[in-house]
Amino acid sequence: MTRPTPHPSPVTRPFWEACARHELVLQRCAACSASVFYPRSVCPVCGSSRLGWEAASGTGTLYSYTVARRATHRKLADRVPYVIAIVELDEGPRLTSTVVGTDPDDLTIGARLRVDFEDDGTVSVPVFRVVAP
Ligand SMILES: [Zn+2]
Repeated sequence: MTRPTPHPSPVTRPFWEACARHELVLQRCAACSASVFYPRSVCPVCGSSRLGWEAASGTGTLYSYTVARRATHRKLADRVPYVIAIVELDEGPRLTSTVVGTDPDDLTIGARLRVDFEDDGTVSVPVFRVVAP
């Protein structure tokens, strides 16, 4: 499988290292307890730099999505149509990902999702699957 791949920075590296272990992690602020995503060096709520990493539940709901019927990147050409999804994690933060394993036409806002990981040999990327009711 080909896809655009992330380029971890010192700030995001713990996130991608966890993905390689098929674990979803989020930052948690030790000062105000905010759950933080995307990874950064300062808490967006209180400004503290006391951000640590903790395991996330890996579950959330489909907050919004669109269906790409033309690839948004040449490396995604063989994946169309695919879902560009905003997933609201149960911890609160939202992340942009995709939903796989379900016909895009069958998706509904609010669908319960669980994280999964796609490996391409060099990186593991979090994706989401609809949780069977
Ligand atoms: Zn904070």
